[in-house]
Amino acid sequence: MNTEELKKLFELYDNYKNKNLSTERLRHPDIKNNFQLFSGKKIFDIHREGFSIEERGIFSVTFGRGGTKILAWSQMHGDEPTATTALFDLLNFFSTNDEFNGFRNFLLDKITFCFVPMLNPDGAEKHQRANQINIDINRDALKKQTPESQILWMLAEKIKPQFGFNLHDQNSYYTAGRSGKSAAVSLLAPPVDFDKTVDETRLRSMQVISVINKMLSEYIPGHVARYNDDFEPRAFGDNLTKNRISSILIESGFIKNDINKETIRKLNFVALVSAFNTIAEESYKSEKAEDYFSIPENESLLFDLLLKNLSLHSNGKNFTIDIGINREKCFDETTQIFYYKGTIKEAGDLSIYNGIEEHDLRGFSVECAKIYDKEFYDLSALREFDFSSLLSKGYGYITIWNETETNSFFNFPINAIPKYRKFSPAIAVDEYANLLLIKNGKIESVIINGFYQDSAETKIAILNGLVIS
Ligand SMILES: [Zn+2]
Repeated sequence: MNTEELKKLFELYDNYKNKNLSTERLRHPDIKNNFQLFSGKKIFDIHREGFSIEERGIFSVTFGRGGTKILAWSQMHGDEPTATTALFDLLNFFSTNDEFNGFRNFLLDKITFCFVPMLNPDGAEKHQRANQINIDINRDALKKQTPESQILWMLAEKIKPQFGFNLHDQNSYYTAGRSGKSAAVSLLAPPVDFDKTVDETRLRSMQVISVINKMLSEYIPGHVARYNDDFEPRAFGDNLTKNRISSILIESGFIKNDINKETIRKLNFVALVSAFNTIAEESYKSEKAEDYFSIPENESLLFDLLLKNLSLHSNGKNFTIDIGINREKCFDETTQIFYYKGTIKEAGDLSIYNGIEEHDLRGFSVECAKIYDKEFYDLSALREFDFSSLLSKGYGYITIWNETETNSFFNFPINAIPKYRKFSPAIAVDEYANLLLIKNGKIESVIINGFYQDSAETKIAILNGLVIS
């Protein structure tokens, strides 16, 4: 199908989207339950390939009858679930009966697919990158000590696919080159050696990536990047390419106003269908390696919040500084809740960077947020508290006697200091991001846990505070 026809199909994406699955967190029961929904559909052969260290089943689903074989796996890093949802959306697409039956059957005639959604269920359970014994499966392709790596390698040997799709999430701070645009999707044709030789197998990966890039650029121009192509002898993509399986890494990144990554999920669907189409048509063969190399490289040039041109008074002198702040999304295992941790990542001249949120603060000075002078025994006193008044006076911390010692965060728009913790706020790299922005002696806005809050605004923009550790 040509670009215009594919775009018509992508307009119907919502019909194929698996509404049971969330891109924020995916656990093993989600996979099992969803496979159960597909078990009645004749086109799918669902098979348990083995078990993780904690004995969770690792499943594959095989479908299609073509001579070209594709192996696609996701979530080998447990906390990277975006593409897993897209694989289930694809299963919906392949088992739907609609106006695209002709195209669907063309793909199924040409290709035999094997998907492994969630290669690392133990990591997914803890929402962590590595597996249960803290081995990064994508650094275990040589030794193959973990059952998860053994399963993936065994499938590659058994199926002997021509193409392998290695599906991941990357952090939100990559840009497509120096453009300042976030890398919504990054792509890589892994090399086979330290010289980054382009052999026949790698060239095929590059050609397919070039097609994917062109299609994604229809939707997110300037937001597609090329992942760093240094050779990693221990990684799967590199080793599979060495074994003549053209590997394609797709990293789900970030695009503004898509906190839940639903847009990125759809882009995975777009990327994969475009790839399957060009592989089935063999049209990728007309693409050139240069098309791949023309995709801008991933650069780490983005902060969640960039404060520009602040005046800092220190040692009797005034300095003009920019402050770059990131809000790391953390997972609390005890409560099973996500929370944010805002820290200062860099200060000084940050003119080469962009912020997902930026403020030009010429004429403003910066100071540390203050510790409130009244202390509290526990959290109950805070439930009726007027936080916007406290924030407008520049308080970023309160002292608590009880209840907070073992927690990492706190569902109030302020930070808690446990009574016996010695702590003094500072404006420094890797310190908590709690700041006052002052103009003509008046606190105009505050930064609490990396969130920007205008003092005149009564609606609070701070999603959570931290317990200072
Ligand atoms: Zn990953």
